[in-house]
Amino acid sequence: MTLSILNPVHILSVVIWVGGMFFAYMALRPAAISTLEPPLRLQLWRQTFKHFFPWVWAAIITLLVTGFWMMFDALQKIKEGTYGICEGCGEDIPEERLCAIPWTRFCAKCAQEYEQMYGSYMESSGFENYSDLRFNREDITEE
Ligand SMILES: [Zn+2]
Repeated sequence: MTLSILNPVHILSVVIWVGGMFFAYMALRPAAISTLEPPLRLQLWRQTFKHFFPWVWAAIITLLVTGFWMMFDALQKIKEGTYGICEGCGEDIPEERLCAIPWTRFCAKCAQEYEQMYGSYMESSGFENYSDLRFNREDITEE
């Protein structure tokens, strides 16, 4: 359960950090240059960073915690000799699939069955609306 929520939280942290920087540089900066005198721009940036940096620090801490958690979970599985073994059928997950989705816990067949039963091959993490998410399994082969 915890692993299924770590990945979305990890990605959300990246979106907050990098998306915020992109917005500031690509949208706010040109708007400030075209509409405000330099002293007012300085006040705008000071206030913007005052509100943005607590989110950045939270995102950085979250990234480190979730990243290390996922990494240590994988290392623990490697140590136990269970990394790359499907939790559904117990068969080895093909290397191509592990290269494409290193955090996967299921082979493509079990992931598909799980997805048909529950709407997602990831365990429920409180997010119930996975209907908009679609993956092309043709891109991930098991030859
Ligand atoms: Zn399986």
